[in-house]
Amino acid sequence: MATKKRKYAPIAPPPLTAQEKVSRYMRGNKSKDTQPELLLRRLLWHHGLRGYRIHWKKLPGKPDVCYPGRKLAIFLHGCFWHRCPHCVPALPKSNVPFWTDKFTRNQARDQLNRARLRAAGWQVLVIWGCQLQQDPEGCLFAIKALHAGVPESYWLEAA
Ligand SMILES: [Zn+2]
Repeated sequence: MATKKRKYAPIAPPPLTAQEKVSRYMRGNKSKDTQPELLLRRLLWHHGLRGYRIHWKKLPGKPDVCYPGRKLAIFLHGCFWHRCPHCVPALPKSNVPFWTDKFTRNQARDQLNRARLRAAGWQVLVIWGCQLQQDPEGCLFAIKALHAGVPESYWLEAA
């Protein structure tokens, strides 16, 4: 079970056997106010896109940011956990079935949340961590457009 020290910094946590550790790790992942979230909110605030709610419990998946008046929900997805199609983070090398299952369920849940929101008439935008990091202006541009009423289909990648 225990592995030798690797040369590379692990992209995933070391093999986890204790359920508590897993739970703690997953909770950590879901914590509010992560750096990317703060960056996004700061960006929105500075560009006058105010009046948003964060992690609104009334909505499926509690989107990171939403504008109830505009029916616009924004998910800021961590690339590793939600399996970013752009930067395609490497899969962990150990406990493969565990991680594969975890990721599959994460993705299924994401998809279901998006579908539920759309069914309720919401526009949904997914912003990936790497997109926000590399192109905050582009992210802002897309959000501004949706906020202003440009149809979602114009921006949305196939979900
Ligand atoms: Zn990414």
